[in-house]
Amino acid sequence: MTPEEFRAAGHQLIDWVADHRARIPDLPVAARTRPGEISGALPVHAPQEPESLEAVLADLDAIVVRGVTQTQHPGFYGWFPSNASLSSVLGDIASGGLAALGITWQSAPALTEIEQVVTEWLRELTGLDPAWKGAIQDTASTGTLVAMLAARERASELSEHAGGLQSVAQPLVVYSSAHAHSSVPKAVLLSGFGSDNLRFVDVDPTTYAMDPKALEAAMAADVAAGRKPAAVIAALGTTGTTAFDPVAEIVPIAQRYGAWVHVDAAMAGSAMILPEMRHLFAGIDGADSIVWNPHKWLGTILDCSLLYVRDVDHLVACMSTTPSYLRSSADDQVVQYKDWGIPLGRRFRALKLWFHLRLEGVEAIRERLRRDLANAQWLAETVAAEPDWRVLAPVDLQTVCLRHEPAGLDGEALDRHTLAWADALNASGTAFVSPSKLDGRWMVRVSIGAEATERSDVEGLWAALRANADAAGTQ
Ligand code: PLP
Repeated sequence: MTPEEFRAAGHQLIDWVADHRARIPDLPVAARTRPGEISGALPVHAPQEPESLEAVLADLDAIVVRGVTQTQHPGFYGWFPSNASLSSVLGDIASGGLAALGITWQSAPALTEIEQVVTEWLRELTGLDPAWKGAIQDTASTGTLVAMLAARERASELSEHAGGLQSVAQPLVVYSSAHAHSSVPKAVLLSGFGSDNLRFVDVDPTTYAMDPKALEAAMAADVAAGRKPAAVIAALGTTGTTAFDPVAEIVPIAQRYGAWVHVDAAMAGSAMILPEMRHLFAGIDGADSIVWNPHKWLGTILDCSLLYVRDVDHLVACMSTTPSYLRSSADDQVVQYKDWGIPLGRRFRALKLWFHLRLEGVEAIRERLRRDLANAQWLAETVAAEPDWRVLAPVDLQTVCLRHEPAGLDGEALDRHTLAWADALNASGTAFVSPSKLDGRWMVRVSIGAEATERSDVEGLWAALRANADAAGTQ
């Protein structure tokens, strides 16, 4: 494709994207397809001859769109917001067009230096101490894995047997809340600690936040048994209920035992741009690493996750490789992001964040987040005031955990009722929520925060919740 052919095709594609975004409110929120239906609608073999762009766009319309859950829909309340501002989409397109090779500073100095600038912008906007230095990772799962690898190496160094797990005499132990995201045990296992050495610390039964006394007791028991606490992973905004582990209490405990503190604020991190919400993050500057995702609530299209560390030298010591073909004369003056994580070749992800912040403006993003927080409070108060409905966890952020509990229903019958009305709501196409288990029973998470969701949409959701629950109750 020549640049001139690209220009014509690109205009058509941008028109397609703009039309698609405009019609999203009229589409069903949940993907409407059966397993295998989409792959079955495509040819088995790759085309030998070029096809027209019109044919490809027609397939996008006919086959692809129904196979995507519309996270940009005003009725999307599932999992967590996965906003993709059109400003950040433009940045992603620019990144593709530039086709920068992000392997070293020298291969694309702009890629490195704009990443330094935007991670520093976000550091300042979130009120973090200037000692934090950030890099963009693909996901929080990767950021947590990198943090665990760094924690493992520090723990093995502290045992005076530098050289990784193989050289450590004592088993190294990691602690997280029982409500930690699945990426946490995955990172702990992938970094070689072993499933026997991951402790799920009890949470407070009403706030669902980690109980620091239980953490301290678990660490003391491990030390008494000859094991070494290596890391604590604190969740600020758990996936189930957006609970906030008390980092200000966790940090001194972890420090007494020489353990690394990693903060998983994948969802909630966006709230740090609101000064009035920073009390939820008290103590965060005492941690060793933080991960949070602008690709969730902040609105920068997937994939864009930030990993901040305080001790860059230690991270680089864990991650760096210096083959002769990657050396340059600037090495001692520049940041080499290949040494801050796992991949060598890195995308120009900073551009989508740069476009997002520049074209949206921070104040407008703050106002959108405040709108969502107010909408969540409204929904929580409305649900709590309704007989037979219950709000099940504190609503510190924008997610409301709720259940319809009609008289006479409990246990498995209540579970069946919850899943029946949630599935009916999702099948209706007007809204999408994620049922999830809390204390062993099904409940429904309403995670407010899609860019398009206004108060009127949340009011419409509340009417739909009641209608579907009542209909399920009479079956
Ligand atoms: N941590 C928390 C608290 C999450 O809620 C999620 C995803 O929702 C993740 C980590 C994983 O994020 P990612 O998809 O960026 O790996």
